[in-house]
Amino acid sequence: MSAYLDYQAAKPVDPRVFEAMKPYFTQDFGNPSSLHNYGYKATNSLEDGRLKVAEFINAPSPDNIIFTSGATESNNLGIIGAALRNRRKGNHIIISEIEHISILNIGKYLEKEGFRVSRVPVDRFGIINLGKLERLITDETILISISTASNEIGSLQPIEEIAEIAQNKNIWFHSDAVASESTIPIDVQKVPFDLLTLSSNDIYGPRGIGALYLKKGVRVNPVIIGGGQEKGIRSGSENIPGIIGFAKAAQIMKVEINEEAARLKILKDKLIREVLKVPKSYLNGHPEKRTPHNANFRFDYIEGESLLLSLKDEKVEVATGSACSSKTLEPSHTLISCGLLHEEAHGSLLLTLGRFTEEKDIVKIIKVLPGIVRKLRILSPLTPSDLLKKLEEEEN
Ligand code: PMP
Repeated sequence: MSAYLDYQAAKPVDPRVFEAMKPYFTQDFGNPSSLHNYGYKATNSLEDGRLKVAEFINAPSPDNIIFTSGATESNNLGIIGAALRNRRKGNHIIISEIEHISILNIGKYLEKEGFRVSRVPVDRFGIINLGKLERLITDETILISISTASNEIGSLQPIEEIAEIAQNKNIWFHSDAVASESTIPIDVQKVPFDLLTLSSNDIYGPRGIGALYLKKGVRVNPVIIGGGQEKGIRSGSENIPGIIGFAKAAQIMKVEINEEAARLKILKDKLIREVLKVPKSYLNGHPEKRTPHNANFRFDYIEGESLLLSLKDEKVEVATGSACSSKTLEPSHTLISCGLLHEEAHGSLLLTLGRFTEEKDIVKIIKVLPGIVRKLRILSPLTPSDLLKKLEEEEN
């Protein structure tokens, strides 16, 4: 069996979720827009699902939830929809330098459409600088979009403070909560988000379904036009099996999140402790202010990609960064923003834990990693000669 440590890229559907979804493919397959019994049943399922997703984030009403096809679409609807809606009020949007690629590319798109987009820098731990954020705000600023946490290095952003800054200036605050929603509870009545992106798969529901939370009074222009479903904000026949799965996943996560996060933190701390015993290895991101399931390392003189491939041969499945950017040869924009050199950013390894990670998975990687790092360093032209000599002695 492989040790799977890439939960940020994809999570298995929880078997309890899968069971709950099954009847909705074959028996209760109706369309909520139909006026017959199948349609009524589908409407009830849809509204029940909306209620459970609302409860997951303590939203005051199910009306706050708009179902989408996933986090990318929620980010599009939230940011582009809000920008278009408020165009007459102002044309300036603020994001951070380390947003998920979907948000960075939305930023580029909006620039082509005539908006001005500023990107707040982060410190060496990947945490945004509040002073710099405040200085970027102008009378034209209509939206701030900063994720709750980094999907790559797990750094937790000061979202309460950002929400307060936005609220005081009457600017909408959107946040992509995907990287933290499986380990950190969200309460939209405690943190005044105006818009929030949620994904089903990140809480062990199916892919192809997500949601955008809209605070009461926050309206966005639709980006998908059609039959007017989801109050005209997101057209297209509702994905009922997906919504049932998302709702069940949310229900389970609400109950289990704290216990699960505590268990993962213990495993993650052990992983970090042991991996950092490898000479010239470093932790990327903040040592404490990070999601409980994220560990991101870098190792001098070797590339993350070679490490990933060697670990794969040992049936340890990891990543070098965000799955959504893994096909590019560019180093991680997040690590570069944290001040790493290109060669340092190329040396990184991302390990994310989840519901089905066990102690033995951590033990397995701890066992194989030091030997792999040594072998790769012996082969690397970058390894200094004194270290090379030492490694060769150890190897023999
Ligand atoms: N935001 C974040 C923080 C992510 O990690 C991801 C990828 N899991 C997305 C957005 C996009 O999600 P999807 O590909 O499911 O639309």
